Formats: sequence, structure tokens, C-alpha cells
Amino acid sequence: MTNSKYVDLRSDTVTLPTQEMREAMYRSEVGDSMRGEDPTMNRLEALAAEKLGKEAAIFVSSGTMGNLVSIMAHTDYGDEIIFEADHHSYYYEVGGYASLRGLAPRIVVGNHGVMAPEEIAAAIRGTSPYFPTTRLLVIENTHNRGGGNALTLEEVNSMTEVARKHGLSVHLDGARIFNAAVALGVDASEIAKFADTVQFCLSKGLSAPVGSMVAGSKELIERAAHFRKIVGGDLRQSGVLAAAGIVALEKMVDRLADDHHNAFLLAQGLKEIPRISVDIPPNPTNMVFINTDELQMDGTQFLNKLRGQNILAVAYGPTRVRLVTHRHIDEEGVQRATQAVERIVSEV
Ligand SMILES: *Cc1c(COP(=O)(O)O)cnc(C)c1O
Repeated sequence: MTNSKYVDLRSDTVTLPTQEMREAMYRSEVGDSMRGEDPTMNRLEALAAEKLGKEAAIFVSSGTMGNLVSIMAHTDYGDEIIFEADHHSYYYEVGGYASLRGLAPRIVVGNHGVMAPEEIAAAIRGTSPYFPTTRLLVIENTHNRGGGNALTLEEVNSMTEVARKHGLSVHLDGARIFNAAVALGVDASEIAKFADTVQFCLSKGLSAPVGSMVAGSKELIERAAHFRKIVGGDLRQSGVLAAAGIVALEKMVDRLADDHHNAFLLAQGLKEIPRISVDIPPNPTNMVFINTDELQMDGTQFLNKLRGQNILAVAYGPTRVRLVTHRHIDEEGVQRATQAVERIVSEV
């Protein structure tokens, strides 16, 4: 795919559906899924629940919707929920938890997405007429702004254990849980078991065109489905979309290892270049973050120069740039990106 003009490292969301997905969509047997009559959607929901070791799962149109309806399912108006400072729902999802559910965020600063259990404990309120009720801990794995770090089972365990001890529920934003599973060499269900609800994206590295899944207990998924309906996310012949999701889950998980390998090569190459620093998290996956501080160049200038060399990436802060590998990036693309950065740095 690197014969296209650009090496597009902006996100794994740019991946296009595979031929197999398109054919499955074309042939999909469908029905009114709002009435539970879409056999393909029913199959995807059962498959997602099984893969995550949960009782039930529902399809939602996006990760944002999945996180929102999960958070809504766990909480009541005026509750407080604990986020890591760089968590996606806190950072990027338009504050829907606040505007649509009246929730107050409590922030714990983590390291590559890992929160210290003591700090989670300290953030949980006791009972007092002055305090909102702390209801939910939200964790993210892999952690996007944390460098694409895959949180280990031990880390997830120690973070969620503290929440449990204090009677909190746990939602896992596992948009890229399969990247985490592949990087850690564990089954996704082993990560999911620490959370009451899990959201994961079909539309990122797994290459489906649309959709996310929310999995959890029957009861929680029924509540999530109720809120999905409220936000207009209940669909009709959605088996057309589910057909691609089934291919994503059955065929596209193992190949994520290739993306991780290419991100590793990219990080290795970039590390050799003077005056830019590469943030390599403890358990890297398909992302590489570089810092352009020392170049006296802000992220936007750097991105423009990259674009001039047909390399696309995104800014993650004034001097922080994110590059993501995915199905359309091969070793040649990695090489082109590394050489482009080399040229930019040598011309400064
Ligand atoms: C992409 C992403 C989401 C949101 O998914 P959309 O489908 O873009 O709404 C949520 N959480 C994380 C960690 C993500 O990377």
C-alpha cells in the first residue's frame, strides 16, 4: 500500500475494509436489529462477548458512544468518576459524561496510563454530606496518550483491586484491547476480566469500516443498550456493518503483531536521529511518539515539513508528534518515514 503517495501514520483508523469484509457485507443476511432480528448482528454480538469472556455485548457506532453508554450504565446523575489524566474519554470525547450524565471527573495522573493504586485510593471519596459519590474507575488499555502502552495484567489488577475494595465499578476503554493482548501475549479476555464493562473498536487496527462493541454482564449490557437508544445509536439492518466486524474479529487480530513490529522498527530508526527524542513506553504497541523540543520547532511546523515529504502524522501537544502503524504501513513505509525525519533534522 506504500505505492500510494502518502505514508499515512496519522492513525490506525485510516485502515480501509478488506476485500473479504466488503464481500461479507455484500452477502450479509440482515433484518431489523432494533427488534433483535438481524442474524449477522446477533452473531457479531455473541462473538464479541465470547472473545472478551463476558455474558453479553452490543454494537455501537463508535468508541465514543461505547464509552459514553458504558459510563452511563454504571452511574447516576452527580456521581464522580475517576479518570487517568490523559484518558481518552476525559480528553477527546467532548465531555459527554458531564453534559449528558452530569458526572464530575476526578483525575489521577498516571505514568504511560498506569495509575498508582495508592493514588486511586486517595481519589476515592469517603461518605460525607460534602462529597459526591465516587462510582466508577475508568481505565484505558492500550493507553493512547500514554504512548500506546499495553498495561500488564499485574498493573490492571492492582488498579482495579483498589476500586473493587471501595465498591467502585470498572469500565475499560479497550479501544485497542487486541493490540494490548497481542503485545502481552495474553488472551483479550484475561485483560477484560478485571472490568465490568469493556469497549473496543472494530474500526481501528482491526480495519472494519464502522463500529465498536461494549461487553459486560447481561444486566449492564441491557442498561448500556437503553442509553444507546437514548443517544440514537440503535440501528436497523446493521448486519451490513456487523459482517465486517465478524471478519475483523476472526481474521484481523493476529496480524496486529505486524503493526507492532513496524512500530518497533520505526522507533529504532528514529532513536538514531539526533535532536529528536522518542518516547518508548514499557510495553509498546503500534504507536511511536517523538518530541521535537530540541529542534526549536513546534509540532505543526514539523508536521508540515513531514507532509512536504509525503508523510502524514498528528500533533499530540506543542512539540509532541504521534506516528501510528497499521495494515497499510509496511517496512518500506517505515523506511520512508525515518528518512523523511532524518532529512528534516539535517536541514534545521
Ligand atoms: C479511538 C478511541 C476511542 C473512540 O473511538 P471512536 O470510534 O473514534 O469514537 C476511545 N478510546 C480510545 C482509547 C481510542 O483510541
